Amino acid sequence: MDKIQMKTPLVEMDGDEMTRVIWQYIKEELLAPYIYLKTEYYDLGLKFRDETNDQVTVDAANANKKYGVAVKCATITANAARVTEYNLKEMWPSPNATIRALLDGTVFRAPIMVKGIVPYIPTWTKPITIARHAYGDIYKAVEMKCFKKGTAKLVFDGEDGSHEEMVVMNFTEPEGGILQGVHNRTTSIRSFARSCFNYALSTKQDLWFAAKDTISKTYDHTFKDIFQEIFDQEYKESFEDTGITYFYTLIDDAVARVIRSNGGFIWACKNYDGDVMSDMLATAFGSLAMMTSVLVSPDGCYEYEAAHGTVQRHYYAYLEGKETSTNSIATIFAWTGALRKRGELDNIPELMRFADRLEKACLDTVESGIMTKDLALITAMEKEKVHQVNTLEFIKAVRNRLDALL
Ligand code: NAP
Ligand code: MG
Repeated sequence: MDKIQMKTPLVEMDGDEMTRVIWQYIKEELLAPYIYLKTEYYDLGLKFRDETNDQVTVDAANANKKYGVAVKCATITANAARVTEYNLKEMWPSPNATIRALLDGTVFRAPIMVKGIVPYIPTWTKPITIARHAYGDIYKAVEMKCFKKGTAKLVFDGEDGSHEEMVVMNFTEPEGGILQGVHNRTTSIRSFARSCFNYALSTKQDLWFAAKDTISKTYDHTFKDIFQEIFDQEYKESFEDTGITYFYTLIDDAVARVIRSNGGFIWACKNYDGDVMSDMLATAFGSLAMMTSVLVSPDGCYEYEAAHGTVQRHYYAYLEGKETSTNSIATIFAWTGALRKRGELDNIPELMRFADRLEKACLDTVESGIMTKDLALITAMEKEKVHQVNTLEFIKAVRNRLDALL
């Protein structure tokens, strides 16, 4: 097979710890032998973020906007311990948050399903993708403790001089109570809706959206109205042409339906619902190491990554020269997602086919019994058939399969 040529560069965002080690292995073993890799490289490793005062993160996000498609390695989100460990100038913000804010994107998380790793819900034969709105609600709330008698009000002073107020609660007991003020922005909800509709079209899956509009007649109802308005005006026809549907229901009804479903759809969630439900889904489908994540902006930029972090514990073992058995599948799928999207946008069918085969090679490897420890612990496969391997052995086994498929 001839090595595949690319047209537009892929924005490559390198990262930290064990996933940075895996990143290199994947490029050397699974990509470079088959593709003339054309990437624009940004080192989002914590050390270089610190050296550049985090400018590299902003540059990488802008490159993502310019070229459209990026692949990102997991990165450390700095905290007090990391400031000491890396002797940081500052506690730099989370790269994911920076990129998400610059792209105004929505995060889609989908499980990678493989025979032998059985979801806890046996009817889930197809993946369920969660689309989490990553702005506002309780994550940008202001809160107050008012442990006394008094009146709480919601007040809005318009820039045009208008004034609105309403009573939240008249506390008549001396113990008073607690208060929370939440908001969302119309433009952010619109972006969220468009990202969901675009992603549904691009993956040809039905879209579900749920909120609690019967109780929250203004706040949640506005989410419902904006989704419906944008759907009717901009997406109805293309959904019909693609043979997919948009479906709104109440959040509690959605939860009940999700459990009874066979999967195979996208579930759009408000921020908090998405936070809670994505961890439930990740666990129910088997393993955090088998979750992919893609950030999609309303104007059609994509950033692919694994849902897990930098697997710090394994990295420290690796540094001590101990054997590690870290699962690289989600990181490989971040690359294949990005390469396939690049192939689609640049019309390079060989690149899309390569992405399909590399994914198949990963799944075939696991289904043949060769797997890393995290999967060996939860597989339903007979113990004699399971062959637990280390980090690099797994990648080499995938390469063998890939060569056979090509
Ligand atoms: P983590 O890296 O996701 O790992 C937590 C644990 O989950 C690991 O110790 C391991 O369990 C298991 N695990 C996760 N991925 C695995 C894989 N690929 N193969 C095998 N096992 C896997 O979360 P963390 O340790 O809490 O966070 C480490 C760093 O990652 C933090 O600095 C955090 O800021 C960062 N982080 C980054 C992102 C991102 O860039 N998107 C997301 C989350 C966290 P065992 O130890 O039991 O084997
Ligand atoms: Mg959470």
